[in-house]
Amino acid sequence: MQTYRKPNGRLEGLEPYDPKYLPAECMMSANENPSNIDEDIQIQIRKRMKSLQFNRYPDPLANKLRTAIANANGLEKENILIGNGGDELLFNFALAWGGPGRKFLNVPPTFSVYENNALLTGTEVVNIPRKEDFSIDQEAVLERVAQGDIDYIIITSPNNPTGQLADEGFISTLLSSTDALVMVDEAYGEFSRTTMRPYLAMHKNLVLLRTFSKAFALAGVRLGYILAHEDVIREFIKVRQPYSVDAISQMVGLTVFENRARFSNDIADIIDGRDYLFGRLSEMEELTVFPSDSNFILVRVDDAHEMWEGLYKRGVLVRDFSHSAGLENCLRISVGTPEENEKLISAIQAVLKERRFGDGF
Ligand SMILES: *Cc1c(COP(=O)(O)O)cnc(C)c1O
Repeated sequence: MQTYRKPNGRLEGLEPYDPKYLPAECMMSANENPSNIDEDIQIQIRKRMKSLQFNRYPDPLANKLRTAIANANGLEKENILIGNGGDELLFNFALAWGGPGRKFLNVPPTFSVYENNALLTGTEVVNIPRKEDFSIDQEAVLERVAQGDIDYIIITSPNNPTGQLADEGFISTLLSSTDALVMVDEAYGEFSRTTMRPYLAMHKNLVLLRTFSKAFALAGVRLGYILAHEDVIREFIKVRQPYSVDAISQMVGLTVFENRARFSNDIADIIDGRDYLFGRLSEMEELTVFPSDSNFILVRVDDAHEMWEGLYKRGVLVRDFSHSAGLENCLRISVGTPEENEKLISAIQAVLKERRFGDGF
């Protein structure tokens, strides 16, 4: 067989992204909304589907959806860009502001996609690790930024997988002390009910990232968007693939966005579920539970991988971070429906009991 030429050297140390998605009765590993979009919205989508022109290319910039999002945020459509999931926009960010000879400031542990995108685009990663409690080392970040050579920064608020908000005053100071592009990733902003949106008027270097995948129950559709100054959006448009957001996704996204008020009960229930889970998990001595402003909770437990297996055996899939740097013995649990939350609690209790008394008890 003819052999093949190796790909570029940047791929050498990289592992393909693996969400470790296994089938389970309780899917609590990917921070999705545990409920599908409601029947009414599904009917509207099916109706619109009937008149969809499958033979035509979609509007490259999804202007209808873009305009709806702009109006809701008191902005112009030129301040919005829709992507094939937030992930596409994260990649575009690295393409436009990263590259050989350029630097990305990262605050791990955080979303691993950021660092991967930097490596793929030949961007140097400057890591400023979080403190023991996973709060940002603000002094260290500001000190490093003061050197003037950072090209872009991503602050995740609330952070994934640790769960907490970044301090608003800190982000504001950061924005004023650098001309580096600062993306605030608000993928979980609906669960903290916070946004840096008011700061867009004062800071051309601010980019907000949001997604339909979490609060708005569209992880299967792939839609995300950014809010930024129009000149910044123009740079993003230069690097994007023209038709990355297909016609079906545009239509589904618009329908869900028009019905977004209907998600507020769902979001309130998820927040209640998070607070309930936090209380119940905190009662378990063997767990260290990190406070969360999001729709998931990070816990630390001895032999976390074994705990993960015990939960999976009992039908509950959570995300195992125990082999990730800075997240030793950590598991991330997405808030589920009330029934799923109870199953998770019972499963953890069963594993802990087994540990205390052994299998035969
Ligand atoms: C889920 C997530 C996103 C975006 O996900 P998409 O499904 O690609 O829209 C972005 N950032 C963080 C931190 C996330 O957890």
